[in-house]
Amino acid sequence: MLETRSDSAERATINALHTIQGRDGEINAFLQVFEDRAMEQARAIDAQAEAGEVTSPVAGMPIAIKDNICLDYGRTTCASRMLEHYESPFTATAAQRLIDAGAVIVGKTNLDEFAMGSSGEHSAFGPTRNPRDLTRVPGGSSSGSAAAVAAGMVPAALGSDTGGSIRQPAGFCGVVGFKPTYGRVSRSGLVAFASSLDQIGVLADSVEHAAQVGAVICGYDPADATSSDAPVGWEAQLGEPSRALSGAASWRVAIPREARSEANDPAVTEALERAERTLRAHGATIVDVELPHSSHAIAAYYIVSSAEASSNLARFDGVRYGRRASLETSETLLDLYERSRAEGLGPEVQRRIMLGTHVLSSGYYDAYYATALKARRVIKGDYDRVFDAAAAACDAILMPSSPTPAFRLGEMVSDPMTMYLQDIYTVSVNLAGLPAITIRGGLGGPSDALPIGLQLIGRPFDEGRLLGMASGLECGLEQSAS
Ligand code: GLN
Repeated sequence: MLETRSDSAERATINALHTIQGRDGEINAFLQVFEDRAMEQARAIDAQAEAGEVTSPVAGMPIAIKDNICLDYGRTTCASRMLEHYESPFTATAAQRLIDAGAVIVGKTNLDEFAMGSSGEHSAFGPTRNPRDLTRVPGGSSSGSAAAVAAGMVPAALGSDTGGSIRQPAGFCGVVGFKPTYGRVSRSGLVAFASSLDQIGVLADSVEHAAQVGAVICGYDPADATSSDAPVGWEAQLGEPSRALSGAASWRVAIPREARSEANDPAVTEALERAERTLRAHGATIVDVELPHSSHAIAAYYIVSSAEASSNLARFDGVRYGRRASLETSETLLDLYERSRAEGLGPEVQRRIMLGTHVLSSGYYDAYYATALKARRVIKGDYDRVFDAAAAACDAILMPSSPTPAFRLGEMVSDPMTMYLQDIYTVSVNLAGLPAITIRGGLGGPSDALPIGLQLIGRPFDEGRLLGMASGLECGLEQSAS
């Protein structure tokens, strides 16, 4: 539209800012909105379009950024009192690539503190509400990014996914959530939670927008030692969703026995079966597979991620980083550290740090951390077998993104174990480092009003195929619903 001048970045940005102004009072998706700066960026893009210099599909697109991703303006709070006033001296590579491509950064979004949580309720700056039903959670930890897209404030937002934080809230809010392969997107400038699992990705209103934004942020970055130089270039492969669907006869889609769990909400089971019927109707082959070690995924994930978090968050001691407790009331240096961390970090973050410190402590290391690493390896092995040509040779795995639709605010916040079990379908994907995408699986739950997320998981670094299948399947599901 910019190329043909049928729309302008300025109009798109004004629209986004108006919607935020109108709706964010009740939703609380944004922690900061950059009105002036966004308008400046938009006008600069319009001037480039006028000169015929716009080259990226994200140019002029209003985009929101999860507030654990650094920008060298505004604040990067991670929704924590600890970083309430933190100003980053540099911009994360993923955000910089978007800015360089002409995206308009409208603001920073709310999250569970330091990205730890599945409901958006663990934010020091108040919970985010689900735009589809304000009595319910939007999911987490990319709560604000999912809600901002679902409320029509922005077409796309950046999130981060360590154990499901893009895919689960996308499912709860009825938007698309794309987590690329571990190593695809630079983690430079993402505030670390669990470095061997963390990955930046996209929440968007369509698979197409997720693919476009994804193509901009993916790619090698020397500033991240785990960054991969595998070629990106999937935009060329993505045609019309209906075209992708017409290729479904060549798809081999695995559905794991473990995903058909009786513990699933009936609406989730129904959505999974509907997707299976749709795939079959378009000629895809459905392969029954087993992921026999998936019952260990939650335990392995919460041990590995908490261990890494306890180490990563050690820097927030009020001296090197973060809010410092009053010097007057602190008698010793240790006292100062303790008070700073007790005042600055919320209960869920403290719980993870204690859990992580425990599983790494001498005498427990082998029993917990080392065992969790072994479990991680066999979980990855389960996935390898599904994709392996000699075994099942599947192109993708289909499963729910969560066992239930969005739950009510307050329903689980005092019961961490139940909350952790929400992540049953997402965490093993991070343990294995695979790319995955949540799409809209239809509506269900009370009065059929709640979105149900379905997840497709792909081979490592095969995002092109994954995105093509996701857009095809979503198109098929929409056709069958209408
Ligand atoms: N819900 C998971 C957790 O609390 C995942 C979080 C994430 O992916 N950042 O750890």
